[in-house]
Amino acid sequence: MSADLTELYQQVILDHNKRPRNRGKLPTATRVAHGDNPTCGDQCSVYLRLDGDRIAEITFDGSGCAISQAAASLMTTQVKGRTAAEVQGLYDEFHRIVTTGEAPEEISDLAAFAGVHAFPARIKCATLGWHATLNALKGDAAPATTETHLD
Ligand code: ZN
Repeated sequence: MSADLTELYQQVILDHNKRPRNRGKLPTATRVAHGDNPTCGDQCSVYLRLDGDRIAEITFDGSGCAISQAAASLMTTQVKGRTAAEVQGLYDEFHRIVTTGEAPEEISDLAAFAGVHAFPARIKCATLGWHATLNALKGDAAPATTETHLD
C-alpha cells in the first residue's frame, strides 16, 4: 500500500474516532445485542431496527480503545439498508482485510483497518461491533464475547 493511501486510511480511523457516526441508543430498536472484548476492555452495544429483512436504522454505544470504537462507527455506516446475508458478506470481507492485511483493489473504507493485521490482538477490537450486529440480526440475545465464539 502506498504511503499516501496509508495516510488516507489513518484519516478514516481518526475521523470515526473524533466524530463517531450513529452513536447512542436507538429508541425504536427492534434488536439489541452487546459485544464484550475483555482482553482489551472494549464494550459495544448495537441497536437496530429492521424493516422487513433490511436494517433500516442502526446505532451503537460503547467504550473501549480507538480501534474498537472507530470500527463500530464505520460498521454502522456500511450495514445500513443491508440484509443479514449482505452484512455477513461485508463482515467476511472485513475479517479477511483485518486478518491478512490484503485490501481490495478499489478504495474502500473497510480497508482502512488493513493495518490491524499486524497487531493480532487488535483484530478482536476491530470485529467486536460486527459480531454484535451479526448476533442482533440472528436474534441471539446472548452477548457476543471474544472469549467464546469470536474469531
Ligand atoms: Zn480494543
